[in-house]
Amino acid sequence: MKKILPMMIALSILASGCGHKATTKASDTTQETIIQGVDTTPSIANFHYVVEQFADLEIMRYRVMGLENLSLKQQELLYDLSQAAICGRDILYDQNGAENLVIRTLLENIYTSEQVDKTSEAFKALTVYLKRVWFSNGIHHHYSGDKFVPQFSKEYFVAQVKALPQDQLPLKENQTLDDLLSEVLPEIFDPSIDPIRTNQDASVDVIKHSGVNYYDKNVTQQEAEDFYATMKANHKDDAQPISYGLNSRLVKEDGVVKEEVYKVGGLYSSAIMQIVAWLKKAEQVAETTHQKNSIADLISWYETGDLKAYNDYCIKWVQDTSTIDFVNGFTENYGDPLGMKGAWESLVNFKNEEATHRSATVSQNAQWFEDNSPTDKRFKKEEVKGVTAKVITAAMLGGDCYPATPIGINLPNANWIRAQYGSKSVSIDNLTEAYAESAKGNGFYEEFVIDQPTITMLELYKKQMDDLHTDLHECLGHGSGKLLPGVDPDALKTFGSTIEEARADIFGLYFVADKKMQELGLVPNDSAFHAMYYAYFMNGLMTQLTRVEPGKNVQEAHMRNRQLITRWILERSAKDHAVEMVQKEGKTYVKINDYLKIRQRCGELLAELQRITSQGDYPAAKRLVETYAIQVDPALHQEVLSRNAGLKIKSFKGFVNPRYVASYNAEGQFTALSLDYTEGYAEQQLRYSHQFGFLSQVK
Ligand code: ZN
Repeated sequence: MKKILPMMIALSILASGCGHKATTKASDTTQETIIQGVDTTPSIANFHYVVEQFADLEIMRYRVMGLENLSLKQQELLYDLSQAAICGRDILYDQNGAENLVIRTLLENIYTSEQVDKTSEAFKALTVYLKRVWFSNGIHHHYSGDKFVPQFSKEYFVAQVKALPQDQLPLKENQTLDDLLSEVLPEIFDPSIDPIRTNQDASVDVIKHSGVNYYDKNVTQQEAEDFYATMKANHKDDAQPISYGLNSRLVKEDGVVKEEVYKVGGLYSSAIMQIVAWLKKAEQVAETTHQKNSIADLISWYETGDLKAYNDYCIKWVQDTSTIDFVNGFTENYGDPLGMKGAWESLVNFKNEEATHRSATVSQNAQWFEDNSPTDKRFKKEEVKGVTAKVITAAMLGGDCYPATPIGINLPNANWIRAQYGSKSVSIDNLTEAYAESAKGNGFYEEFVIDQPTITMLELYKKQMDDLHTDLHECLGHGSGKLLPGVDPDALKTFGSTIEEARADIFGLYFVADKKMQELGLVPNDSAFHAMYYAYFMNGLMTQLTRVEPGKNVQEAHMRNRQLITRWILERSAKDHAVEMVQKEGKTYVKINDYLKIRQRCGELLAELQRITSQGDYPAAKRLVETYAIQVDPALHQEVLSRNAGLKIKSFKGFVNPRYVASYNAEGQFTALSLDYTEGYAEQQLRYSHQFGFLSQVK
């Protein structure tokens, strides 16, 4: 629930760097981008941000600035965690769909086969398909959730699979090739099988209609809901709330519904054992005793599957202020149609001291914001605790954070831990840098922004205000407000994530226009917040539709939240035209006439979203989301798509990781960390499958 996606900064990131040539192959990248023994960070001017483009995707690199300032021990810790961050890669593929790993293995083996004709159109189409599968960690689009449509034929695929040597076929015990094919072919080629990864349509059985593998296909939504309702009821006297269902798959055997727990000796054991092995090394070089204990709790969770150990870990983690920090585990529940199961992810990072100052200013004033929020007094926190804000440098992305990545995170997710111990909010500066740098001069503003003064305003303030809005969303928005006593945190069910993201977003929108922000030195002047508002409305009302396929509606929670906010305010501005959609030379533009009026309406909507959350008002949440967040105007959609198509801008971006190489002396002591930025996209994915394919390697 608490992950912030790059679409926050959607305007600037929509770009692919026109100034950069699209493909930089490892072989033609110069030696200067390899850091030996970590002494310098490459400068922005010398850095090749763009790796390659295909389909609707662009792959970038990020700079790991300041690694050279870490001590040798910190570098060793970073290295151990960076390896643990890749070890769970296969887990996510399997969570995203039961056939994903088999499909990936087959595709990779065809892709690397010496026998296959690499010049044919079918092979090129298969290559694009494979690259998309890598990007999404499965066969569904990472953002829309729609299943990919392969541009090569079933006959071609079958022929290539049959040409593979026997030892490259991912056959289960006693499985024949025909069995394998009959399992895999419908998943790839039949559009009626698992058409969407996570279905949140309240009118259907969302488990049956979702492609994800968190539930066995023979478990119904009702059975799953009953199972967890019973589990919660049986444990209602727990000393502390438990995130039931977070780390397990639900199955039905002989009519009995039960959990397969993700742990050593349980489901995904062979990958989890590798994660644990690296965490045990990390434990030995932790920065502090506190961090060491935190890692120990995480290991214990992986070893036992016990969610109480996970709570212990989260509590220690949120209080850990070490320079080097990381997330590693079953974390975000966006992918589960019932919003319980955690997708495996990892993010290894270290603190960016300079940039942290901005966030710190926001979080030090958390109580002021809570007190001055336009929400009902009953829904406010009397005391806003421990909102830690920092800016980090990402050093390694894994699982659900790779290749598509959040630009900010706010964890832990458990509300009671957030209430009692606070939460950690981070924004990831080196990733936003890559977005901004790779997007320069792509013609996007010229196409979609109403006039030159507004373009100038956006160019001056957009990046700065996006960073600030991210801080407000993460450091304050999600952490603000409280549930009334007795309200179930899951009361909003399938509408919960959209409402929660909208609540955090509008909190930021409301306060960015407050004089307090200028007093704190965070907003330079009114034009800066105008730039924020213009960008937000243009995105929510129009340009985010570039990421929705023709004929589809808005699916993803963050996109729904933006459409909800902007449409709701647009509708209320019908008379006074505070914001309106206008036509100019046959093109639609967003026009803002009264920024303060919009701010006032942000306050009204914030109050309503907080009320819905605090009271668990499911019918109101459903009505808001269904009225404003989902439906797309087909004519406008078509217009936005065709205007965008003229720009040749990729809608989604992701990253390759740098490659870390550790050196050890004869005694096995860590002596140096080398960083190599030259690895290409396919090269990296194939290496990961080879070195870290703990659930997929053909035995
Ligand atoms: Zn959020």
